[in-house]
Amino acid sequence: MTKGNTVLLDESKMAMSECGKLLKEISTSCCMPERSPKMTEAFTQIDSILLNLDLAYHSSEDVHNSIENIGSFGSMIGFLYATCCTKTREPLYQKMYKEMNNAHGKLWQYMGHSH
Ligand SMILES: [Zn+2]
Repeated sequence: MTKGNTVLLDESKMAMSECGKLLKEISTSCCMPERSPKMTEAFTQIDSILLNLDLAYHSSEDVHNSIENIGSFGSMIGFLYATCCTKTREPLYQKMYKEMNNAHGKLWQYMGHSH
């Protein structure tokens, strides 16, 4: 198994759990009384990304999965961003994109180190 710089994985995981917190904030500040199916899906996705990142320490396949999942999580967030409460939650989304980008970049860096 590769021995990459696992600090990058730690940081990536931290960034994604930050995304999870931001998503909760976004969800609770929404005008809709209940979570939309897309929002629910976003929560499911972030859970599986965090799970992937746990496994990523031991398998480069899971690093790849994480990278891909962050990508589709990003498009999900783009959808949520465009559909509801955009004005009031703009700063939260901005923060989330920043964290996502951070996590994504760290994973690529990790892949680079481990090859
Ligand atoms: Zn809303």
